[in-house]
Amino acid sequence: MALPVEEWRLYAARRWAALEPVLRERLAAAASLHETLRLGCGLLRPEAEVAALRRLCRRARTGKEPAAARFYREEGNRLFGRRHYGAAARLYSQAASHELPGSPEVSVCFANRSAAFFHLGLFEVCLEDIARAESHGYPDRLLPKVLLRKAECLLCLGKLQDAADALRLVENKIAMDGILTSPARQTLLKKLNQLKIKLHEKESCPEPAREACGDAQRKLEIWEENDSISGASSSLSLNFDTERGRHLVASQDILPGQSLLKEEAFVSVLCPGESLLQQDSSETLWDTQATNADLYCHRCLRQLLASVPCHGCSYAKYCSQTCADVAWEQYHRTECSLGALLLTLGVFCHVALRTVLLAGYAEVHRLVEWSHGGDKDLHNPEASCKHLREAPARNAGTGGIPGCNNNGQYQSSYQAVFNLLPHAEKHSPEHKFLCMLSVVAICKELQEAGLEAAVLNQESSEKWSKLKTCEKTSGELSPELQTMAEAMLRHVLQLQCNAQAITVMQESGSGDGAVVNKKPVRLATAFFPVLSLLNHSCCPNISVSFSGTAATVRASQPIPSGQEIFHCYGPHRCRMKVAERQQLLSQYFFECRCQACLDELESDVRSVVSMRNSFCCPNCRAPMQGEDTLCCSNEACAISVSSESLSRRLQDLQQQIKKALELLRDRKADQAIKMLLKCQMDAGNFLSPEHLLMGEMEDHLAQVYATLGKWQEAARHLERSIEIVEMHHGPSSIEMGHELFKLAQILFNGFAVSEALSTIQRAEEILSVHCGPESTQIQELQEMKTCLSELPKSILQRT
Ligand SMILES: [Zn+2]
Ligand SMILES: [Zn+2]
Ligand SMILES: [Zn+2]
Ligand SMILES: [Zn+2]
Repeated sequence: MALPVEEWRLYAARRWAALEPVLRERLAAAASLHETLRLGCGLLRPEAEVAALRRLCRRARTGKEPAAARFYREEGNRLFGRRHYGAAARLYSQAASHELPGSPEVSVCFANRSAAFFHLGLFEVCLEDIARAESHGYPDRLLPKVLLRKAECLLCLGKLQDAADALRLVENKIAMDGILTSPARQTLLKKLNQLKIKLHEKESCPEPAREACGDAQRKLEIWEENDSISGASSSLSLNFDTERGRHLVASQDILPGQSLLKEEAFVSVLCPGESLLQQDSSETLWDTQATNADLYCHRCLRQLLASVPCHGCSYAKYCSQTCADVAWEQYHRTECSLGALLLTLGVFCHVALRTVLLAGYAEVHRLVEWSHGGDKDLHNPEASCKHLREAPARNAGTGGIPGCNNNGQYQSSYQAVFNLLPHAEKHSPEHKFLCMLSVVAICKELQEAGLEAAVLNQESSEKWSKLKTCEKTSGELSPELQTMAEAMLRHVLQLQCNAQAITVMQESGSGDGAVVNKKPVRLATAFFPVLSLLNHSCCPNISVSFSGTAATVRASQPIPSGQEIFHCYGPHRCRMKVAERQQLLSQYFFECRCQACLDELESDVRSVVSMRNSFCCPNCRAPMQGEDTLCCSNEACAISVSSESLSRRLQDLQQQIKKALELLRDRKADQAIKMLLKCQMDAGNFLSPEHLLMGEMEDHLAQVYATLGKWQEAARHLERSIEIVEMHHGPSSIEMGHELFKLAQILFNGFAVSEALSTIQRAEEILSVHCGPESTQIQELQEMKTCLSELPKSILQRT
């Protein structure tokens, strides 16, 4: 999803192979991105590449389609009838995104959605949707019913005066029109009278005002911002040397849990769901599965409830009109009609486009020009390193470090993004060609769609009209768009090493039952220029958590003064063996030399991962040893098995587990348990007892028992899963925190008060280090604790 769809990648590869050898060599040898673009710009032929892209784009469904709107509305009504109000609301949102703004149809979607929210007890959201329905021209004859719902919401919210006003309005409306005997009218009148009585009761006996609670007692984290690095704590300093490039170092002793960095993404793009790109174009069925685009705001990534659809497309949905307006102003007026193309070309291209739109043409132009201007260092990092090594580096402050401004400050700015290393010389020529072709395709499309003025928003309209006339004849990119394309190419290449995933903990599985099973999900791809200063280690000393588009970095262990701050780019020592890690890290163009890698590479000791994820002898259960053929370590046994057959067995087992989870989803808990127990038996015959999968099965069993309300069994299985998680990830890892959180929920539900309290305590200690005291999980733990402490003594004594 980061890169373009496969068909386009293959198309570009074929084009590359068919180029004249001379041209191919010149492209491969191009010394700068400017040169690459100059040579390659004209290689996107309208009748070939452009046409192929157009065909691919037809698969992406990003426009407004009346048929889809009808389908989603009917599905919504069906689920509403079955009282699945949450799912119904989501389908009405999808329907609304396919309707034209201001049409009676879209107002009906909002009105229907308001009814779903009403049933969910979300009265404020319901009122928002009623207002939306009214502003989009809700049909007058249907209005009384919606106004009654409004009055009822206001009543529930204790806004009695407003409720009285709304009721008066409905009364007038009913009196004014309609036939007296209509049954619908009778129903309305009956409801009206009920509400009037309710209002009267509330007026005569007002409820005590509810106290505002919580926030005041929340501890404020101590935070002193660094003078020279925006968003960083004052306990860090920015250093530079040839070996490590730019990096952050502790300038004083740091405690676990201490915040080190708080940074708002310079740019972020929500990763769309796979289903927006349908593989089979003949597929006419609409997908009712919720994707990221249905669940999170297109701009700020907050979770969506009553989403506001874009007026132009069906894929951008916002948490509020404000977000919709800001996004439109900043980038979406340019992106809106390009949805299908951006989906086809992948998230990296999309991030690159949005980056230049946010930076603005003037700033992009300034930096692109600067990069040409004799500053060879920029294309040759070695030279710039040398230059810095010779300078009195350490105590020279941040003066000469790339990306810093004239005052030696490193800030989250376009300049900092621009200075992230594109490693242009390390990417393969073929890959650069693909990126170049993709970026040029976007710019061509912008030009042809008449969006150049929007892209160059700072330019006067006079200049724009002049531009337009000269392009029409040439068919080539205007000089301004060529500058934009060059910057975009740079950003696409930078993203390979500098893209930061924004992840959230998302509920997974059936979602019912009192125990919420959450797993991290990739939500968006972003540039965080300050976070990007951190180097990788397979045993990092920090944790990153996200809230919306903001990242917070916390120390996950004590960091003594002088030690470098390390982020894990993905390959973690607890999840992969050193060979796998090095393989994955090759995309970042470096060989990891972290302590974990050195230990594993230089000693003969097998990695923790391979030891714990190993097989045992099917005959005597002793550990198996070897690579291609595994032999029992018990000499008396002498059994040997090919690793291939063991792997196949492992795959079969994973298939079976998947089936068990499907049974659970279909609410066939008993069958799921049977199947999981059988899987466990089978696994015991060939997996070592510490194998991660053994833990996962225990975890699933705990989940099934929890849905049945069998809390003791659930806790027993989860405790075994926790033992294995602890072995793999360590006692204070975030993974442990999540498992303990689940255990706390189970013990809480089972009224195992003292165990629950001690588990809450442990979970709190771990999670506050990784996610901070204000994370939702910590809040939930504290609520549980309060609730337990308020339980009557009689229950407490029983346990
Ligand atoms: Zn938003
Ligand atoms: Zn749009
Ligand atoms: Zn490493
Ligand atoms: Zn054996």
